[in-house]
Amino acid sequence: RPLIVWLREDLRIADNPALAAAAATGAPVLPVYVLDDATPGRWRMGGAARWWLHGSLAALGQTLRQLGAPLILRQGPSTECIARLIAETDAAAVYANTNPEPYWLGAESALQRSLAAAGVTVHYFAATTLFSPGSVRSRRGQPLQVFTPFWRACRSTTAPAPLQPAPLHLRPPTSLPASDDLAAWSLRPTSPDWAAGLRAAWQPGEATAQQQLVHFLDQDLATYALSRDRPEPAATSCLSPRLHFGELSPRQVWHATLTRAAVAPALATPAEAFLRQLGWREYFVHTLHHNPQLPDAPLQPKFAAFPWREDAAVLRCWQRGETGYPIVDAGMRQLRATGWMHNRVRMITASFLVKHLLQPWQSGEAWFWDNLVDADLANNAGGWQWVAGCGGDAAPYFRIFNPILQGERFDAGGAYVRRWLPELARLPDRWLHQPWEAPPLALAAAGIRPGIDYPNRLVEHSIARTRAIEAFAQTKIVS
Ligand code: FAD
Repeated sequence: RPLIVWLREDLRIADNPALAAAAATGAPVLPVYVLDDATPGRWRMGGAARWWLHGSLAALGQTLRQLGAPLILRQGPSTECIARLIAETDAAAVYANTNPEPYWLGAESALQRSLAAAGVTVHYFAATTLFSPGSVRSRRGQPLQVFTPFWRACRSTTAPAPLQPAPLHLRPPTSLPASDDLAAWSLRPTSPDWAAGLRAAWQPGEATAQQQLVHFLDQDLATYALSRDRPEPAATSCLSPRLHFGELSPRQVWHATLTRAAVAPALATPAEAFLRQLGWREYFVHTLHHNPQLPDAPLQPKFAAFPWREDAAVLRCWQRGETGYPIVDAGMRQLRATGWMHNRVRMITASFLVKHLLQPWQSGEAWFWDNLVDADLANNAGGWQWVAGCGGDAAPYFRIFNPILQGERFDAGGAYVRRWLPELARLPDRWLHQPWEAPPLALAAAGIRPGIDYPNRLVEHSIARTRAIEAFAQTKIVS
């Protein structure tokens, strides 16, 4: 009898414990992916992530076919689809890697319960994080709410499990159940086709993910600690969609990084800085584990009373990259064009929305969710709550990023702004991050008509800053 391997955010062959365990039994293997918009509810996958999913499934399908066991695609609520496949194939068991998102935890136990009645066992494995969600705690067994002690505890616990080898061959069942046609899922946009920039920037799939990891370790790890905050040229790994969809496991990234650092002592410091960022991913998954409300409600309840000034027109300007602040607008345009934004710029754009424009962080979270190829429930919600100051370990609300200084500091030569805002390309550096200060002659020489070629500022920084602090004080949130 075949074994079903239920794949979700683990779209890889290597270091996939569920797949490896099923293959090791010698029984026929039936890999399955279910496109399930029902279980996540309002957190169904957004547009950019769906585009990625198509590419990742196409690549995985090809690899699995070469290994002997084609990928079966089904659409609908996961528990129902898996139960139906068991009935169709007489499968003996289900193998799956657990998924830390709260709706999946519910679905996983429901599946286990419903299949137990039919004598079918569900075997779950841990593969999405370095350390099992909820397992990293204080010495007294309490969840750790602040990142630094959390990461210290991670680094002092046992190392992540060793890697699982990729199966060399998979035994297929004698007859295959029907599979949906990937193209018929329409995960990629047609009209309008907004994905040209995504196609130019990315090639999803496990093989390219591996190449990207090696490229990063070869080219960029050495300078990571110094240059990771500069958006142009981007010197971070850009592995976030790979990790989100599980084309790479965090353990693979962890072990590959430490292996490099072990043979080149100069890499020890940058490797530690890089692993620390992986630590933030762990931290937010742990935070979500302890606080399933993280994507929807502030972790600090007092923020529920914050006087947001919801304004659809203002939100639209931010979404389109038309706020009049070049570093903010460049980030928002990078996001729309490529489905990705550099971490420093995510912090600046998010802070601008929440503090300068007083729009609820959930509006920004929803926009990122739909537009990021790496949209991830824990990281996205965690990042927004961190910026808004309402998370467990959060930037204090009154620390308000100055978008001019941030631009001048992290995009000093203006390469990032010029890349994403070509209309400002000819403006000299000294005004690039504050074009409203440029004299009319300089603007004319650069071919910029304020308000026509580039928008005027939505708000003036110092006024916005005072307004944000007043709003904060009004709710008596200031400690
Ligand atoms: P690198 O610097 O190369 O880091 C390696 C890996 O570590 C990343 O791929 C990522 O998995 C993890 N990582 C790095 N920084 C963070 C961080 N601050 N928080 C959590 N994990 C981190 N990341 C997502 O993966 N998905 C999201 O939906 C997401 N939304 C965000 C929203 C906001 C408002 C903010 C401020 C941050 C968000 N991040 C999110 C975190 C971070 O911006 C991205 O993980 C990072 O920019 C990805 O680029 P990279 O792969 O080159 O990172």
